[in-house]
Amino acid sequence: MTFQPLDRYNAFLHRDEREPVESSGRLSGLTVAVKDNIHVKDMPLTCGSRILDGYTAPFDATIVARLRSAGAWITGKTNLDEFGFGSSGEHSAFGATKNPVCDGMVPGGSSSGSAAAVAGGLTDTALGSDTGGSVRQPAAFCGLVGFCPSWGRLSRYGLTAFASSLDRIGLLARDLETVRRLFDIVDGPDPLDATSLAAHERNYKSDGTRSGRPVIGFSESWNRTAQPEIGEALRCFLDGLRSAGYPVRAVSLPDPDDALAVYHVIAASEAMSNLQRFDGLRYGRRADDIVTARSEGFGREVKRRLLMGAWCTSEGLGDDRYRTAAIGRHAISRRMDSIFADVDLVVTPTTPTTAFPLGERARPTQMYRSDRFTVTASLAGIPALSMPWGTDRDGKPVGIQLMAGRFNEKILLDMGAVLEQVRAKG
Ligand code: GLN
Repeated sequence: MTFQPLDRYNAFLHRDEREPVESSGRLSGLTVAVKDNIHVKDMPLTCGSRILDGYTAPFDATIVARLRSAGAWITGKTNLDEFGFGSSGEHSAFGATKNPVCDGMVPGGSSSGSAAAVAGGLTDTALGSDTGGSVRQPAAFCGLVGFCPSWGRLSRYGLTAFASSLDRIGLLARDLETVRRLFDIVDGPDPLDATSLAAHERNYKSDGTRSGRPVIGFSESWNRTAQPEIGEALRCFLDGLRSAGYPVRAVSLPDPDDALAVYHVIAASEAMSNLQRFDGLRYGRRADDIVTARSEGFGREVKRRLLMGAWCTSEGLGDDRYRTAAIGRHAISRRMDSIFADVDLVVTPTTPTTAFPLGERARPTQMYRSDRFTVTASLAGIPALSMPWGTDRDGKPVGIQLMAGRFNEKILLDMGAVLEQVRAKG
């Protein structure tokens, strides 16, 4: 059965057509769309896959429940690359999502529908999930703010797992103030999520910087490998910071291609383990047709990841690969820790290029390279924020990524506000 898009960007997979109910609370009047791998009670949950046909969420994810009790209105469920595997929104069983701000281009992924719904004005804000960049990268491609707090900070109860040691929920909006409002409501420990940090673990850096102006770190070697106009945009932002009195220092970030290799081994291995529950028996209506569900229920990219994960973890062959990747990951985290002993923030491009044409990156390795600047923060579990900063010569949005030390969300959001000011002046 083919799916008929519900809107011109194919952003929503399910929409609540009712008029928003009057509410009170700090988020009253705010509309929030939810990526379709997060549970919203009584709405379908597909993860962008046919394997979950017929499954309706029996409960609200903790974050969704918190948003509702603060008065937000949940507008519906948004399209995504199947189970979060992708960087363009093209790997959904329900068709590709389109970029509302640049014709013929992908919106980025995997939170493609969340970004398109916000950028297309169909909702004020959206929830996404970010395992290797899936909130920050689509935010960059669609000219939005995309925020991914530290691993363990936002509850994942009700988020369908992709790679548990990397998965996080992230927030998308057109401006930073709205992201901050959402974050204030959803932040906090959750007894229903065993990986959610306790209150005393999350506050130790909440006062931001050591003293005076935050010190900014920057790596020319990352910048050089981005599309020239993106490199230029970043240099222009740094000039703005310098003239506003912020010290800028060169830092030696981990090699982005090493990080990408490490990321893919870890992400595929964990995905292989997490997706075993989708056997066509437990969820959805496929119980009478398990063979079909198994062979036709998953798309090509899912099958590729599962094979890769099985290979990485098979005994006598792959177990060394997972272990090697875990050692690599540890080294990357330690490097980031030592960088954040010297500087308060690191500024990089969010993506190597601006949004690319639909259908252009058919080769998986080519697609995977879109994540080369986002996976480092994912592996290190540190907070990261993508902010829009102008456009390239074709009018496609450019995104700047800010990273901070673990649990130092405050400094990120404060610097995001500074970026908005510098941009307004520029
Ligand atoms: N694009 C990356 C991948 O395909 C990250 C996906 C994500 O963050 N969910 O693995």
